[in-house]
Amino acid sequence: MDLSFTPEEQAFREEVRAFFAENLPKEMSDAVRAGGELTKDIMDRYHTLLNDKGWLATTWPEEFGGPGWSPVQRHIFEEEACRAYAPRIVPFGLAMLGPVLQQFGSKAQQDYYLPRILSGEDWWCQGYSEPGAGSDLASLKTRAVRDGDDYVINGQKTWTTLGQHANKIFCLVRTDPDVKQQKGISFILVDLDTPGIEMRPIKLIEGGHEVNEVFFTDVRVPAENLVGEENQGWTIAKFLLTHERTNIAGVGFSMQSLEEVKALARKVMRNGRPLIEDPLFAARVAQVEIDLEAMKLTNLRMLYKAQKQGAPGPETSILKIKGTVIGQELKDLARRALGPSAAPFPGLLSANLDPAPEDAAHNAARYFNNRKTSIFGGSNEIQRNILTKTMLEL
Ligand SMILES: Cc1cc2nc3c(=O)[nH]c(=O)nc-3n(C[C@H](O)[C@H](O)[C@H](O)COP(=O)(O)OP(=O)(O)OC[C@H]3O[C@@H](n4cnc5c(N)ncnc54)[C@H](O)[C@@H]3O)c2cc1C
Repeated sequence: MDLSFTPEEQAFREEVRAFFAENLPKEMSDAVRAGGELTKDIMDRYHTLLNDKGWLATTWPEEFGGPGWSPVQRHIFEEEACRAYAPRIVPFGLAMLGPVLQQFGSKAQQDYYLPRILSGEDWWCQGYSEPGAGSDLASLKTRAVRDGDDYVINGQKTWTTLGQHANKIFCLVRTDPDVKQQKGISFILVDLDTPGIEMRPIKLIEGGHEVNEVFFTDVRVPAENLVGEENQGWTIAKFLLTHERTNIAGVGFSMQSLEEVKALARKVMRNGRPLIEDPLFAARVAQVEIDLEAMKLTNLRMLYKAQKQGAPGPETSILKIKGTVIGQELKDLARRALGPSAAPFPGLLSANLDPAPEDAAHNAARYFNNRKTSIFGGSNEIQRNILTKTMLEL
């Protein structure tokens, strides 16, 4: 197995790097660098920038408007986007619903919805989790009952990321309560303007408004909004989750964070010398860098396999676990490097007794916000369960 990049791939990297250098507005990279929540305006404008270039729907086949990239090209693009401090692409329409519609949607659904995802006309959010159904997703209770040409939906979804910006939500609903849990679920598209829907914000630990809960009371949704067959939703849900876990390792983001930690530790003084010279701190930085290098190789091995043999397998669970553990360790190191100065934002402990270095803002917020990564997209405990079953065959 040759894990080095080909000359064509290296030329592609140069092209992507040049694109970001020439086209990414400074205010966007500054906003990403500063941490904290990005505005809808920034996310929308980045979406348009990539769409105009034809580089938005990186995982879509060319027939639906994708750039036709290989898994390795997608990986290079991600690395370069992180290197340039570009915003993240909002995944719900592009990385989740798009592939579902391409695989399971009717021709009419594909023709209507896919161009609207690309143009940014529709902003989708994900209605899977419920208060009693997260890891055990199949136990979801939101009910959809057929009534003439409509389904009538009652229930509640939760943790709906960026739902406050969305105009549409794709939902898993229970259409048959009398069969085995997995066999009575359907996948349906809902317009958030429909009467009977209420969205309420949930504040995360660092004070940000990133997630919501969504309540459905007698919400009438046209039956034509069902994707695939009635009660086929579990198959679609599982298909979507494999796409949700694409690029789960977050190699580019961790490379970005590692550089930030090192720069910070060179600047911050502890006991009269730069923190990077403190043996205990330096050992933690070295350990996480070694782990990151090992993960990069595992990631490339997986990309190589995906390129040669089709879809990746349960190895994505290894990447999810290692990727999030490394990401969280890096955020912890940044927070520790800054000490009390890491919390200069309002709302949390006002422990910033020392004048904070100018790039200190948001480091504690980032650390706390990042706790989510080992929970969402299937918690790390669940990933370990998957590994013990599929790889260790226990
Ligand atoms: C910031 C954030 C954003 C999210 N965005 C969305 C979104 O946009 N749309 C959406 O639908 N969902 C979203 N989620 C929900 C996410 O998918 C769930 O939180 C996740 O699946 C865990 O479910 P839960 O919160 O109900 O925890 P639970 O399932 O109740 O788990 C609680 C704890 O028990 C552990 N556990 C549970 N079962 C097992 C088991 N069998 N073996 C070992 N350990 C177990 C878990 O790992 C966890 O530590 C988001 C979550 C967060 C935190």
